[in-house]
Amino acid sequence: MKPMKTDVIVVGGGIVGLATAFLAHEKGLSVRVIDRSTQPVGSSIQNFGHACFTGQADDVQDMAMKSREGWKRAAAAAGLWAHESGTFIPAVSEAEMQVLQEFHNKRGAEQVQLLSREEVAQGIGNPKLQALGGAHLPLDMRVDPREAAPKLAQWLAGQGVEFNWRHEVHSVADGQVGTNRGDFEASHVVVCPNYRLTQLFPELADKFDLRVCTLTMALIERPDKIPAGLGMLTGTSLARYDGFTNVPAAEALRADLQQREPELVDCIANLMVTGIDDYLLIGDSHDYAYSPNPFIDQETASLLMDKATAYLGIENPRVVQRWQGSYADSRSTNLILDNPDAQTTVAVVASGIGMTMSFGIAAEILRQL
Ligand SMILES: Cc1cc2nc3c(=O)[nH]c(=O)nc-3n(C[C@H](O)[C@H](O)[C@H](O)COP(=O)(O)OP(=O)(O)OC[C@H]3O[C@@H](n4cnc5c(N)ncnc54)[C@H](O)[C@@H]3O)c2cc1C
Repeated sequence: MKPMKTDVIVVGGGIVGLATAFLAHEKGLSVRVIDRSTQPVGSSIQNFGHACFTGQADDVQDMAMKSREGWKRAAAAAGLWAHESGTFIPAVSEAEMQVLQEFHNKRGAEQVQLLSREEVAQGIGNPKLQALGGAHLPLDMRVDPREAAPKLAQWLAGQGVEFNWRHEVHSVADGQVGTNRGDFEASHVVVCPNYRLTQLFPELADKFDLRVCTLTMALIERPDKIPAGLGMLTGTSLARYDGFTNVPAAEALRADLQQREPELVDCIANLMVTGIDDYLLIGDSHDYAYSPNPFIDQETASLLMDKATAYLGIENPRVVQRWQGSYADSRSTNLILDNPDAQTTVAVVASGIGMTMSFGIAAEILRQL
């Protein structure tokens, strides 16, 4: 039997694949999404739902802003929660304040508003916060990672996008997609398999030395005093995201963190908190491996919990869930965007920024088609 043909096949029903499907559908193309799972269960539901547009590098700000627009359109169409509450960053040392000051000088008040201690304390809901001051990044957004990808997939299915769940793709070439449950054909195939790139295009994964990054995460009950749409980054975040690390003061911050917070530095923490409904998402640490260890280290989990709740003035956090998240990582790039043949595009976010950049990456994929 001849394989069924559509304009576009998207392999991978995580946020990168779904954003691509959304934009392709918007353009009036016929779209099929194929995924090995029965629903989105990958990185796209395991994360903070923090769309950190402002913290991305200067040279991807256009893509980040396109992503912001994409999220807003998808949220309006599919009824997703997408909160424009921005990000609060308390500065608890001179070195942190200096990074924020320089970042503000560079990007301007439209992107980076400097705050007094009282203002940042109010922003995160802890009047007793010990800080020197802080910043608010008003363009950043919050989405609910447990809702966004599943609901977007559901909405797309209702709009006529074909979904083949429980189909494990084993080959993609020249518009042909082979799966364990039959073959499919399209004018163009966009492959978004996250770290499972190693299975479908091993040479490409090797070229970028693709590894799996694992992160320690927890969900706690949100006390009423903490705002529901909270997005909070801290000093370790300022030493991590490319936008912040580009300012001269970032070097002194690294030394400052090493001296003040050696345990957080040791577990490669990006200490941050976001809010969804009545809960707070707390994390994270980073471990890198080709085949990750599945265990959550209790010491790391407690460290992150203690440090995060100290910022928020939460004394007895009630932990509801813990999990180890994972995403694709490469030391040489944040994004693998490649064309193994004229009818195939591969898109893998190789850093912890795929929720933020998904719709911008999808726009670039569609532009190239
Ligand atoms: C703990 C944690 C916190 C994070 N925090 C943030 C954050 O706050 N902000 C941010 O921007 N990013 C964050 N990230 C990163 C972000 O979640 C990822 O970059 C993004 O979700 C990647 O999306 P994806 O669609 O590529 O991957 P996934 O969501 O993993 O989707 C890939 C899909 O491909 C399917 N697939 C793979 N291989 C095959 C195959 N052979 N056949 C069929 N289907 C296949 C899988 O089943 C899966 O559904 C975080 C990640 C984690 C783990």
